[in-house]
Amino acid sequence: MERFVRAEVLPFADAIERQETGVLRGLLHRAGELGLLAGTVPTEYGGLGLPRSVTALLYERAAVVPSFALAHNVHCGVGTLPLVWFGTAEQKARYLPGLATGERIGAFALSEANAGSDALAARCRAERTSDGGFRLTGTKAWITNAGFADLFTVFAKVDSTHLTAFLVPRDTPGLTLGREEEKMGLRGSSTRALFLDGVMVGPDAILGEIGAGHRAALYPLNIGRLNIAAGALGAGKTALRHAVRYARNRRQSGHPLADFGLIQHKLGEMAARLYTAESMVYRVAGLLDTPGMPVDEYAIECALVKVYATEALGYVVDEAVQVHGGYGFAEAYPVARAYRDARVSRIFEGTNEINRLTVMEQLARRVGKGRLDLGTSSPGHPGGEVAILRTLTRETILTVWEKIGTATDGNQETAAICTEMIIGLFAAESAWLRAAQLAGPTQEWAEDAANIVFADACALAHSQLIALGAHLGDRGVWQRLSVDVPEPWFDAISARRRLANALVEDAVSPIFAR
Ligand SMILES: Cc1cc2nc3c(=O)[nH]c(=O)nc-3n(C[C@H](O)[C@H](O)[C@H](O)COP(=O)(O)OP(=O)(O)OC[C@H]3O[C@@H](n4cnc5c(N)ncnc54)[C@H](O)[C@@H]3O)c2cc1C
Repeated sequence: MERFVRAEVLPFADAIERQETGVLRGLLHRAGELGLLAGTVPTEYGGLGLPRSVTALLYERAAVVPSFALAHNVHCGVGTLPLVWFGTAEQKARYLPGLATGERIGAFALSEANAGSDALAARCRAERTSDGGFRLTGTKAWITNAGFADLFTVFAKVDSTHLTAFLVPRDTPGLTLGREEEKMGLRGSSTRALFLDGVMVGPDAILGEIGAGHRAALYPLNIGRLNIAAGALGAGKTALRHAVRYARNRRQSGHPLADFGLIQHKLGEMAARLYTAESMVYRVAGLLDTPGMPVDEYAIECALVKVYATEALGYVVDEAVQVHGGYGFAEAYPVARAYRDARVSRIFEGTNEINRLTVMEQLARRVGKGRLDLGTSSPGHPGGEVAILRTLTRETILTVWEKIGTATDGNQETAAICTEMIIGLFAAESAWLRAAQLAGPTQEWAEDAANIVFADACALAHSQLIALGAHLGDRGVWQRLSVDVPEPWFDAISARRRLANALVEDAVSPIFAR
């Protein structure tokens, strides 16, 4: 993927951005010839049936050109997975081989103008016809790949009630497309509305069962969240590479920018967050590869990693622009586009607000089943402070549930406080677990990164607990919980400098900035 994107996609990045006819579609087709679209398709249907950890790597490495990466990501992820999981043998045999080779491109049509975050409230109708088929009517919004997709997974309500997924080929009469959306970023990706004007489909177009559309929608979105996180990681690494190169070459006051402490702070922090995002992405991908695991088992982890990685990307592209000064604001340099492209990753595949709430809603369900599992033990962390943070996070959640209840309705901010602490915990723990597996200088850099992220998580927990105690009007809560917040005595300034210097000397690139 990396070689293909650099050699065959990057030279067309501007043509993609201008949406020159056929360019993106042609590159997807070429990717298909190389087997790069076959990862999620089972081998019996012409695919490679790759583990999630490998497909995540493909999404990450594609993100050197984010508009291409999104098209690839949607095609292989939500454009293909509903069919893999819920299709009949006949449906799979008809469509999957073409999706694996790129002869067919897939799209996922769930959102509507008035049903975005609340996607299951879709208004598209599927009326039964006398021959056992359905007439689809309504409008879908924001459909990625719509301009050149051949197969749409469309969600509509049967009898105005039962959300159901349908497989609708592009050439079905009554299906038309809106014009391309004029977007802030990812301008090269195709995003259009889908108009369904009495589209007639047979009973064989139903994907799964009538009324089971929520499963066909939500299961793939879990994996989609991991995939978006992997893409954010790849885009972040690309932006960091640009920032490092610029900081090395640009001189002010007789020095390269990279000599200045405040620039080193940015580079070190970018590296720490990307290292952590990487540790989380492949940890969650590995969990999803556990044989026999139901696909929704790790919904919480998929939401956490989506939020962390996309917000890490937001930080990285913002600081990459800052490192470039005025030139960062100019389209002649790549970071301006990277900045625009990054923004939507916090909006689609469930906004980060919805994902924050999802974490607590899913956790409440787990407790209902007798489980409150907040991660594994954390070998390698001196003093076992991650374990203390885990206990504190669990105590905070239980306190919120005891004082306010488990429902997030009307209590979104306190739910988000808990989620913030869980994210900090999961991030720090993932960073440490991975650092413990490394050796030599790489391990030292990884430990620096893990320490930076852990110190941030503790500082955040501290401020969140003050906010929680004050909101509850209960100083006792704050006093009881804050006693346990770890206070790592760690020189993060020197750690960021070490990371920045290693990046500038290219020493650290295999792990942080490849
Ligand atoms: C470039 C792009 C590509 C896309 N591709 C696809 C695609 O291929 N297929 C598809 O089906 N969809 C796609 N989407 C749609 C995307 O999934 C939605 O935009 C997203 O789910 C948010 O919905 P919305 O835009 O209606 O915002 P809204 O749901 O209106 O949200 C607006 C704001 O309110 C917040 N909010 C909403 N509800 C709540 C709540 N209950 N509690 C707290 N805060 C809330 C949100 O977090 C957000 O900040 C795409 C969108 C974009 C921009």
